[in-house]
Amino acid sequence: MYKEFEISDKAKDLVLKAEESLKDEFKKIDEACDINSLKVLNAFHNNNISEAHFNSTTGYGYDDIGRTAIENVFKEVLGAEDALVRSQFISGSHALCVALFSYLRPGDLMLSITGTPYDTLHEVIGIKENKSSLKSFGILYDQIELVSDDFDYEKIKHYLTSKKVKLIEIQRSKGYSTRKSITIDKLEKVINEIRKVDKDVIIMVDNCYCEFVEEKSPCMVGADVVVGSLIKNLGGGIAPNGAYIVGKKELITLAGERLTLPGEGKEVGPTLGINKQILQGIFMAPSVVSSSLKTAILTSKVLEDLGYKVEPKYNEKRADIVQNIIFGNEDDLVRYCGGIQSASPIDSFSKPVPWDMPGYDDKVVMAAGTFTQGSSIELSCDGPIRPPFIAYQQGGLTYSYGKLAVMKAVSMLLDNDK
Ligand SMILES: *Cc1c(COP(=O)(O)O)cnc(C)c1O
Repeated sequence: MYKEFEISDKAKDLVLKAEESLKDEFKKIDEACDINSLKVLNAFHNNNISEAHFNSTTGYGYDDIGRTAIENVFKEVLGAEDALVRSQFISGSHALCVALFSYLRPGDLMLSITGTPYDTLHEVIGIKENKSSLKSFGILYDQIELVSDDFDYEKIKHYLTSKKVKLIEIQRSKGYSTRKSITIDKLEKVINEIRKVDKDVIIMVDNCYCEFVEEKSPCMVGADVVVGSLIKNLGGGIAPNGAYIVGKKELITLAGERLTLPGEGKEVGPTLGINKQILQGIFMAPSVVSSSLKTAILTSKVLEDLGYKVEPKYNEKRADIVQNIIFGNEDDLVRYCGGIQSASPIDSFSKPVPWDMPGYDDKVVMAAGTFTQGSSIELSCDGPIRPPFIAYQQGGLTYSYGKLAVMKAVSMLLDNDK
């Protein structure tokens, strides 16, 4: 059967051998999964989740008990005072945009302390010109770079004592950069340092790809507001769309009034039949995140054994589900992505080729055969066509499917005729 699937004996043996050596790593992942599952189950029980919560509203969406229950579950699981979990957010980027427009007013200063933010925020902030940007409303922006994959603590403190900053943005996952992602320990440390010099600045965390990787989440270490996507970790591969903002009560109220309208805020927003999927999604999320992590660690080990540079290494502490493979040449990158695509459940017959994409300077190759369009908690792999030809791989709804995909991608990589 493996042969029929075009998995070579060599690739299969390599992967199984690597898997043998990962028992200790997998055990740590299982432990985090147990703790996060316990948190979710506890939140379901504390909120008496029942079948009635699967019903939903239409029109204005007044009195949607399922929506309220979902938001109570999210706030509890993420250790926040309040939550806004909505399918009216069309993506994580949209939720980040709504949050920024909720808190910043003309003349306010926003500061990123993790260098340049995620690509989709460039036009939101006005780093790239756009007539609807924060900049167009007179909101100022500045950034402080990371140094050796950590915060520039002294520079941040000096900045905060010399200027009045309204909001600090911290992006945990690396996006299309080569830096390391920010662990909860590092996040906690920088928040403590910030609070020594500024008690009021709003600390906002872009938590995309990081949920349930560790046992703590950003609100538990002092973040004021945290944003993420439901077609990533917390949707568990089941939520059909949406995003969340959690945090301090007054900040969630402001976000609700920006997403809908002043005066109605969180009280409106029809759920149109997706409450069950959102609840089932967060219920599955701890396990799906651990499948993704195991797939990432297996990939890291196998590709390192094959002589490629990888980041993170299989035994490194992880903050997110993203695995980088530094291929060093276009051919290997494209061939590997082709293997991931051909092992996908959907569109397995398509062959990804490097192409121009809106918003990117270089051509990009993208492999994704997903049930939900753009879902990257499902196994997906992509990379910009520029040296050093890095693949960004993430997701995996189950470990078995992830493992098969790695076997297939490695077969393609080793088969130079294809
Ligand atoms: C994916 C991602 C986003 C935005 O997510 P979309 O849902 O694709 O808009 C923002 N920041 C980071 C770091 C991400 O990885």
